[in-house]
Parts: sequence; structure tokens; C-alpha cells
Amino acid sequence: MFTAIVGINWGDEGKGRMVDLLSSDYDIVCRYQGGNNAGHTVINPRGKFILNLLPSGILRDETVNVMGPGMVIDVEHLFHEVERLRQAGIEITPKHLKISDRATICMPYHKLLDILEEDRLGDAKFGSTRRGIAPVYADKYMKKALRMGDLLHMDDVAKRLPALLEWKNLTVEKGYGHQALVAETIMEWLTTYGLPFKEYICDTTAFFAQAAEEGKSVLFEAQLGVLRDIDFGIYPYTSSSSTIAAYAPIGAGIPSKKLDQTIGIMKAYSSCVGEGPFTCELFGEEAEALRQAGGEYGAATGRPRRVGGFDIPASRYGVLMQGADIVALTKLDVLSYLPKIPVCVAYEVNGERTESFPTGVALACAKPVYEYMDGWMQDISGCRRFEDLPENAQKYVRYIEKATKCKIAYVSVGAERDAYITM
Ligand code: GDP
Ligand code: MG
Repeated sequence: MFTAIVGINWGDEGKGRMVDLLSSDYDIVCRYQGGNNAGHTVINPRGKFILNLLPSGILRDETVNVMGPGMVIDVEHLFHEVERLRQAGIEITPKHLKISDRATICMPYHKLLDILEEDRLGDAKFGSTRRGIAPVYADKYMKKALRMGDLLHMDDVAKRLPALLEWKNLTVEKGYGHQALVAETIMEWLTTYGLPFKEYICDTTAFFAQAAEEGKSVLFEAQLGVLRDIDFGIYPYTSSSSTIAAYAPIGAGIPSKKLDQTIGIMKAYSSCVGEGPFTCELFGEEAEALRQAGGEYGAATGRPRRVGGFDIPASRYGVLMQGADIVALTKLDVLSYLPKIPVCVAYEVNGERTESFPTGVALACAKPVYEYMDGWMQDISGCRRFEDLPENAQKYVRYIEKATKCKIAYVSVGAERDAYITM
């Protein structure tokens, strides 16, 4: 069984917690895109964990975790993330974790360039996580990046690095007027933080081919959601990688394999980190109350997330682009305080109502059409069966299911592993 768990919205839908829950049925969990701009929060019997780079299956001892070729890896961040988990009693060995030799290394200068450019842009900034993600993917496609496999050949890296830095310094030093990058410092960084992973780096494509032959099951874990996909998201307010399920086999390193199932993770309301159009956005007290109720502060950055009601045009588009077979509707419990629940049912573009999701200028000027549904005003976090939910909560779930045209198979009512309902 090859299954992808992906985001239907802007990210932070609760993918990590669903991977943590469902990974018990899989032999392997693989992250296939993005870098440490991800923040997946998992709360289970072993504790509370925030994972940025490591696949969420790392919290199960019997699961093999793969960081695929589609990822960009800041080895310094990975080093500290692994340390943090080890201190919490999680075992991480080459048996549990395999890193693709094809994955790209996110270097200190990528992070630096991300910061320099966001600062230069001032008010026109993209709202980047400042973790080097756009610069490193740019270098990957410029074919000037270092890959994890290069760490196995440090002599060769030492030879290539001066020419690489000469090129980078055209931007860092001559462009931004920053202190020039020095090869020695970079080599030290690679040695300190990269070399400890030598034993973990392998040809994950060969590993997957073998695993497929043995009938092993794989869960692909995405970062962010459709609306941040480089091609299908709200460009240029997207991430720099493909967040959609169709990319999973490629980014994981098993390009010939078809997915058997795609599970979309969709939040019962909306949240968005960073800049760009967010049509359903709520403001003022209404927004603050929702932000507080949902704890909407970025796991990776601590930034307050922008919030809104459930967005039907955006979510229906998300379901479609992901090709989701089933959906998990998350964080329903967060809405329990609302007597009337706001739902963005359509957009108005240039005075015309539309239920489809526009792009470009049309999206930038779209206004939300809000309707209100009756709330339930009671704690639902203890509900474990659909019938246990108050009638209005059941109605809300069924309404969303119909509007987004996808079967809701799970509803989550709390952050803990077992706080969910199977439909
Ligand atoms: P991801 O990036 O998609 O993995 O999502 P994040 O972890 O960034 O954000 C989801 C947040 O909601 C985390 O803090 C989770 O602990 C929390 N969470 C997940 N599911 C639920 C739920 O059903 N109810 C509540 N109240 N919180 C949840
Ligand atoms: Mg997140």
C-alpha cells in the first residue's frame, strides 16, 4: 500500500498528527519535499514533539523513516532536531532513518540570502520563514547545489567549493554588500553538522525498490498544502517545492510507483502563515478569538497565523488538486465556542459571485461571501463516535463534505493521538 498524506489548504492542517496516528499501519514513512520550514506538531503517549525535517514516523521505533530526494536539508538544523528527540528518549539510528544521497543540502548561505532578500524587500516581503528554502531550491535548479551524497566525498567538495563560492559571492558580497563567504568556514560547517549523518545517507531509491518488492507499505508525508504548491498554489506566495500528492513518488525517490491512496488533511476553519491573498481572512476580535481557540501560532517560527472561516472555494480546489480519495477534517473542537460559525461559501470577483478558486489578479481582488451556520457550544473533545457529536456539529461536517465533494473519513477533536472519530 502506497499512501500520501497531504494538505488541502495553506498548511498546518494537522498532517503531522494524522501521520503519527496512521503510521502504525505502514512500514515506512517518507518526507518527499520541503525543508525545515515545516512544523509538524505531534502529541502522543511519548510526549509532545515538533518535527521540522524528520518524518513524523520517527516516533515509532518499528518504522523506517526516509528523507527523500525532493527534500532540502539544513544539516545543522537536522543535527539539533535529532539531538532534541534523542534527549526525549527517541531512538534514531541508521535503521530508523535513511537520508537520500540525492537530497539537497540547505547551506548557511541559503539562509543568509533568504534573510538578506526579505530585509531588502521591506514591506513588500514574501513572508518567508527565512530558512533558506527558496534560495536552495533555486540553486538546485541552477544545478549548483551540494547534495547529501556529496558528504561521502569531502575531498571532492573541497575542490568544488571555491568556484561555487566565487559565484555565490557575486550575490552575497557584490550584490548585498555582505561579508564574503569563506570556503574554510563552510567546510567546517559541513564537517561538524553533515558528517555525523554519513551512516544515514544511502540510495533510498534502491531501498524503496527493494521494499516494494518485499510488499512493504509506505506513507508519504507532505509539508504545507496545495495553496503553497509552487505550480498550483498562490504564486508567488507559495513554497518552492511541489506539495501535492502527485509529486510524492518522485520526491520520495520511487518515481515509477503509483499511489494507491491519497488522504487529504483539511482543517475545519482556515489559517495561513505569511503574506499573499487569503480571501476568507477574518480580522479584529473575531480573528483573535479563533486564533486563541486554535492555538494558531507557527510551529516552525512562532508567528501568529492569519485565520478565517472554512473556505469552500479554496478547499474544493485543494481536494481536486490533491486528488484526495478521502479527507480527515481536523480541529473541529476549536469551533466549539462559536454560537454562529462563519463559512466562506463563495468569492466575489469584480462584483460577480464565483464558487471556483481564481488565480492572479482575480484572486488578489476577490472578496469573501460569508454565511453563518449554527454552532454547538459544547465540549466535543471527548467524542469518539460520529453519533456522539452534537447535531449541529454533525451537520457542519456533512455540509463541508458535500461542499468539497470528498468523503470525510476522519474527524479530529483534539491534538492527542486518540482524539479522533472514524466515520
Ligand atoms: P501540520 O504542519 O499540518 O503538521 O500541522 P501543525 O502541527 O503545524 O498544526 C496543527 C496544530 O494543531 C498542532 O499544534 C497540533 O497539535 C494541533 N492539532 C492537531 N489536530 C488537532 C485537533 O483535532 N484539535 C486541536 N485542538 N488541535 C489539533
Ligand atoms: Mg505546520
